[in-house]
Amino acid sequence: MHRSKSRTLRLGIVLTVLFLMAPVHGETSGNSYAWADDGSSPCDMIDELTFNGTLANESVQWQVDLGPRLPGSNASLAFRDNIKGLLEPAGWDITEVEHHRHGMNLTNLHARWASTANDSDGQVVISAHYDSRGAADRDENETNRSLPVPGANDAASGAAILYELARHIPSMNLTYDVVLFWNDAEDQGDNYTLGSEVWAENLSASEINATHAFVLLDMVGDADLQLQNINPGNDTLKARLVDLGSALGLVNESKDCNGTLGRDIIQYDVVVPVLDDHVHPHALGIPSIDIMDPVYGEPKFYSFGSYWHTMEDTPDKVSAESLGHVGRLVELGLRTDAFIDLVNQTEMPNEMDAEQHVEKTPISQPGEDSVNNGSPAMAIIAAVFIATFVMSIALLEWKAKP
Ligand SMILES: [Zn+2]
Repeated sequence: MHRSKSRTLRLGIVLTVLFLMAPVHGETSGNSYAWADDGSSPCDMIDELTFNGTLANESVQWQVDLGPRLPGSNASLAFRDNIKGLLEPAGWDITEVEHHRHGMNLTNLHARWASTANDSDGQVVISAHYDSRGAADRDENETNRSLPVPGANDAASGAAILYELARHIPSMNLTYDVVLFWNDAEDQGDNYTLGSEVWAENLSASEINATHAFVLLDMVGDADLQLQNINPGNDTLKARLVDLGSALGLVNESKDCNGTLGRDIIQYDVVVPVLDDHVHPHALGIPSIDIMDPVYGEPKFYSFGSYWHTMEDTPDKVSAESLGHVGRLVELGLRTDAFIDLVNQTEMPNEMDAEQHVEKTPISQPGEDSVNNGSPAMAIIAAVFIATFVMSIALLEWKAKP
């Protein structure tokens, strides 16, 4: 890249990160949580957690062993058949919906667990894409770039967590339905998030109103787990996630339920704009969150890390421990009703456009130069620059995209 352009770009990134730096703090402190009106705490539920990261990790290996899960492929069919064969006998209601888009036959898979509570109300949708990218176009080795990625983290990790959650949701006795949504064709060529997009397009007004939240899991198995604050997203959901993570010891310097200081895994002071499956329900006003680790391998500008979209995305880069952290986080959120009774938010940052068919595009990637504590004065200064720089970054990024 030309030097002057590079310098402009880096300054733009710093300012963008600075401007977007809106650290999310939990709603409360002391491991109590504001969304419960009975004074209970996530810590009351910690002993109930049953999510098994080892089994999720086995599913990651199993999915990779299937081969590339390309839309319309036999591996894709085998994945769905396996889920159906295991969940249907357990009482889950399975729906497959086929669509044809951009020359692809894609199949969305939904599994619903209907609440049996007398006062049951609405649904929470938990989603992950189950297709793996057809071309490793970010691989350093040019001869690898036409090969399909193994897709261990992107996205067998999220698909595996959904499946493992399915073993436990029936015994949670929740007051709302849970829909596990394995979406297809998120990651093919230049046409991204197609499965989620077509699902959102076909939601009726009553279905939108009945959806308390859309919780997306994407690239959540990295052995070096860093869950960062993905925009756009619902601020209340984010704040609750930080509270839940704090209880689980996943927030740096924050005491967990045992009084132990947490690890630096939930890094919500780092804001990363990402266009992913969640932008479609978010644009409809459904409270949405993308739980994602945008640094897979070594950090790289305009990339989600050195393993992303390469042949290096293999099961050895994923760990049972990381899968367990994310699985327990979501399980705790379900058990504490953290994903219901949320404030709707439809605001999108200016540089976002949910109508554009793009995947988890790294519009800005915090690097060495990024600033982690913005002041209001600096934010105002940044605002003066931001319109120009965001536009230039966006333009360059679109050009840089595979
Ligand atoms: Zn991907």
